[in-house]
Amino acid sequence: MTDSVSAPFHRSDPSSRNDLHLAELLDFRPDQGIIRLHEQRVVILSAAAMGLLRKELVDTLGVDTARRLLLRFGFADGYHDAVNLRERSTWSSPLDGVRAGATLHTLEGIVRVDVRRIDRDPESGRFEQEVAWHDSYEAEQHLHHYGKSAMPVCWSLVGYSSGFVSACLGQEIYFREQSCAGQGGGHCLAVGRDADNWGAEIDSIRSDFQAADLGHEVERLRAAVGARLKEVERRERLLERRERELNLLRERINRHAAARQFVAGSPAMQEVLELAGRVAPLDTTVLVYGESGTGKEFIVRLIHDQSPRASGPFVSINCAALTETLLESELFGHVRGAFTGAVRDKAGLFEVARDGTLFLDEVGEVAPTVQAKLLRALQEREIRRVGAERSIKVNTRVVAATNRDLRAAADAGTFREDLYFRLGAFIITVPPLRDRREDIPPLVHAFLVRAAGRMKKDVRAVSAEAMSALMNYRWPGNVRELEHAVERAVILANGPSIRVRDLPPEVTQKTRVRPGDDTLDLQQQERVSIERALERFGGNRRKAAEALNISTVTLWRKMKHYGLSA
Ligand SMILES: [Zn+2]
Repeated sequence: MTDSVSAPFHRSDPSSRNDLHLAELLDFRPDQGIIRLHEQRVVILSAAAMGLLRKELVDTLGVDTARRLLLRFGFADGYHDAVNLRERSTWSSPLDGVRAGATLHTLEGIVRVDVRRIDRDPESGRFEQEVAWHDSYEAEQHLHHYGKSAMPVCWSLVGYSSGFVSACLGQEIYFREQSCAGQGGGHCLAVGRDADNWGAEIDSIRSDFQAADLGHEVERLRAAVGARLKEVERRERLLERRERELNLLRERINRHAAARQFVAGSPAMQEVLELAGRVAPLDTTVLVYGESGTGKEFIVRLIHDQSPRASGPFVSINCAALTETLLESELFGHVRGAFTGAVRDKAGLFEVARDGTLFLDEVGEVAPTVQAKLLRALQEREIRRVGAERSIKVNTRVVAATNRDLRAAADAGTFREDLYFRLGAFIITVPPLRDRREDIPPLVHAFLVRAAGRMKKDVRAVSAEAMSALMNYRWPGNVRELEHAVERAVILANGPSIRVRDLPPEVTQKTRVRPGDDTLDLQQQERVSIERALERFGGNRRKAAEALNISTVTLWRKMKHYGLSA
């Protein structure tokens, strides 16, 4: 430290005190990485960096705590500066020091201080100062990060002035901003007063500056952060446990699928299995959607097998295969004499499946009267046998499947909306085979091994060309159609591997263009599907209906509607 730098402060000539020059205050030694300002080591931080630190404080501690921290910080800074200057200066009056502080604040680049008025009565200790602050860096940073503020924002400046003047005068002086550039004005106006002069406001001012209060606040925040950390840890542990459970579930359902030679390696099918595995242990009603032949039955069975009802009965019924009256009697049972031919009491499937699962396949084909009874059974968990007086409580879980869009059917009024919502509490959609083509090779292999074993034929492989045809076909009949195609090919194969000529013609045919093939019209598509099914099964209505996943009665009705003949 050179004497020349601190020399100006030893001068007692009052006229020079307002002319502090930065060059005289600053000892700049870039080679040593040290800068001194009136003998204190200082560092240069950009206003932007200070603004970021300030923003960090506001964002982590909240605006009120940040404000008080910066008040305290400013106060300590100002107090320290004043003590330092005083040691090196001989002021004729403490007010000289006050003025020097204002100049120093300006020189440091914090704010340009314009002292408007200073009143001091040394006898009573009464003090009042008015300053205008121009281009406050703090207001500028606040505006930059948060925009216009409702309250004054030059917290560290207020703190600095308070600390500086308090040190100069040896008494409690506090500043407050009356208006602030951060509120949108051109500059800031602040007023400093002694404690008595602040009147009733002094309590709130003092509490803002009090360290004890801040310490308390920091304690409170620390406790809050601790609690928060514990909560985060708890959640992480919970998440880990869920992850482990999920992995176990995935393993279990995949073992289940493997044991039943159900190929489901594609992500789409893995998701389906996971959904089924998750809903299985709950007693929720489940609706499984999917085109015919996609493996809906397998999913339903998986739900039963993985549920607490696994040891109970699993009963299934195809709702499309029975007439309305027969279906009703099958589901709910009847009493003797309820109708012609009812020679004895008969329990319905809801009762048979007690403590187990009842699988309603093709639930979309259920007639309206039976829909109403089904709804009641699901809602009340009780049924009444046909012709009976009393209801019977049943504890049966219902899982339904359909290839029809029940939402659309409900909108069209052909399916009860309330029943749809009751059944569709949990919906699982099984994707068609064409949406999971990566499963085709392993499926082909599994079907090939099975068929070859059954037929005692030495067929072990599929030619690349044949596999490519199998991969590219649309498979409207899905996995079931693929299985039939492979079986047929095993029968026809002349050597150890399946060739293109062993495959069904529709699989190898280059996509033949039919009228309506690329239509989006649902009716038109339905018509084309029916035509195709009839064609494939040589006009056999029963087989065509099965492939279309509708009842023969429905098929007959639709054929009449479209004017088709077998
Ligand atoms: Zn301000």
